[in-house]
Amino acid sequence: MKVFSFHNFALLSMLLVGLLLLSCSRPPPMQIEQKPVLVQSHPMPRRMASKTLYRKTPLKPLIVIDAGHGGDDAGAEADNYTEKHLNLATARLVRTYLKQLGYRTSMTRNADFFVPLDQRAAFANSQKPALFVSLHYNSAPSKKAEGIEIYYYHSDPTAHRVAESKKLAHSVLNKILQNTSAKSRGVRDGNFAVIRETNMPAILVEGGFLTNEKEVQKIKNPIYLKQLAWGVVQGIDEYLHSH
Ligand SMILES: [Zn+2]
Repeated sequence: MKVFSFHNFALLSMLLVGLLLLSCSRPPPMQIEQKPVLVQSHPMPRRMASKTLYRKTPLKPLIVIDAGHGGDDAGAEADNYTEKHLNLATARLVRTYLKQLGYRTSMTRNADFFVPLDQRAAFANSQKPALFVSLHYNSAPSKKAEGIEIYYYHSDPTAHRVAESKKLAHSVLNKILQNTSAKSRGVRDGNFAVIRETNMPAILVEGGFLTNEKEVQKIKNPIYLKQLAWGVVQGIDEYLHSH
């Protein structure tokens, strides 16, 4: 019985050799996928890269922001504008800009309610921030009174805190004046509870007079408030960089 002829064996061998040669002529598919150029052609997306860098950057010091007045204590009022609301709007802008620069922030109030002055100071002291900034707008019997003034507490027994608060006040005033067309009323001594009872460098910003027709028109403008808030933040940043 003829099971397998030589002719058939030769044909089968040729077919197998042919198939082998054909498979060897193709590059192994894995070789293409493993080319390093493919890895390099897909760099980390910019968004992911910046997120990674942000996570690795240590957070900057803590700043406590105090929006003056609140609740039943409206503060200065003029032309249907209430100081307590303007203080809170400015405080929120300051918080946003500080965060953008990498600072940690804490607020004595973030809504329309009153916080007693000693509690604001006690809260700030418990937080142990690098500095404290209280935000206000002004009023005066004279409608001509106009401009920015910044207070620090002068008769503190800790002389170092007085000097630092004064330096911070000058830095913030200069930056506000650079950002706005406001008139300067200078850096002043003031006996206000929030800057007296706190134990870190502390200032109280009076961002303009609601009783001055020209100045209240500027303060009503959200762009002006942003310029003022950015001035406060630049002043804080400059002060902290000088240490
Ligand atoms: Zn006030």
